[in-house]
Amino acid sequence: MNPRNSLNFSGGPGVLPESVLRQAQESVIEVPEVGLSVLGISHRSDWFAAVVSELETNVRTLLGLPNDYHVLFLQGGATQQFSMVPMTLLRGRGRPAEYLHTGYWSGKALPEARREGQVRVLWTGETDGFRRLPSDAELCFSPDAAYLHYVSNETVEGLQFHRVLGRDDVPRVCDMSSDFLSKPCEAERFSLIYAHAQKNIGPAGVTVVLVRDALLKDVPDDLPGFLDYRTHVQSHSNFNTPPVFAIWVVLLVTRWLINEIGGLARMAELNRTKADLIYNQLDSSAGFYRGRAATADRSTMNVAFNLASPEMEKRFLAEASGAGFSGLSGHRAIGGIRASIYDGLMLPAVEKLVGFMDEFRRRQRNVRVSETSA
Ligand SMILES: *Cc1c(COP(=O)(O)O)cnc(C)c1O
Repeated sequence: MNPRNSLNFSGGPGVLPESVLRQAQESVIEVPEVGLSVLGISHRSDWFAAVVSELETNVRTLLGLPNDYHVLFLQGGATQQFSMVPMTLLRGRGRPAEYLHTGYWSGKALPEARREGQVRVLWTGETDGFRRLPSDAELCFSPDAAYLHYVSNETVEGLQFHRVLGRDDVPRVCDMSSDFLSKPCEAERFSLIYAHAQKNIGPAGVTVVLVRDALLKDVPDDLPGFLDYRTHVQSHSNFNTPPVFAIWVVLLVTRWLINEIGGLARMAELNRTKADLIYNQLDSSAGFYRGRAATADRSTMNVAFNLASPEMEKRFLAEASGAGFSGLSGHRAIGGIRASIYDGLMLPAVEKLVGFMDEFRRRQRNVRVSETSA
């Protein structure tokens, strides 16, 4: 297959809807109502102010977000939020924050929080190799915590919480980088949600932060201006030069979700259908494909699995790549195979992958049969 037509199953930066890419392409040459390339439009222009304002409205509409939340478009990725959250909510508090250690990315948040104060790790899946998430019975949340932090979808291991965790009297903070806008998320139950764009909703360069106003009432006064949420609230996400192009593409994705998909409930159904197709292929393969995550905790965004041996996985990846499937190798931290099926990856692409998996499995069985009979 022509590599230009590869289907993109990458864990991130992820696939984007084709109609969005076409509009982005046109706008690189010229945004008609401005007469300039989007790459050269001022961040102080009326056009960009309208982009930010429409994007904010779209995020509010998609999530049904109450008015007492700020919607911010920041830089520094999710990694900067690993620091900004504890700088804002833990520094000088004298009360611990509670963190869940459910996989690679929640693990990356821990050392950054420890720089700012006391951290209580309520649960870790490290000894199990992060193959499952905790049940409610395994979690004991305290009323005295400064906040609770967890990752809704562990991108590397393919583990996703299908419920909201924690207590209503302790602020919930959640990294939703790899499942934001993939389904309704009960945003009003969280005090702060952050999600960079480059997994599910746009290119790298912008991170969406939803923060309840009350959370910013008691922020340390010695934070650098750039790392103080209040700075970005006051400047409407235009404190310094923001990533205009990335924000524009995220706007195009939200328009696509609203106008072409029909909202997040519908998006969730489509994502469920795509994920079921692949998980059914794993489950009906008689152990040829081995799903990594415990069944109840399987992610609808990242399907991580193994084959019988590293050699077999290598063969699978080489043949898949030859057949036009890109981005299927597992994260460098754990290896294996990972099919990421973000919003922008359409059902026909998943059907093709499942067809390839089925055919590959049958072919290996025939190889084995002919090897034994020879
Ligand atoms: C990819 C990822 C990150 C890292 O994001 P950066 O924008 O590269 O800092 C953090 N959290 C989750 C859940 C991720 O999937």
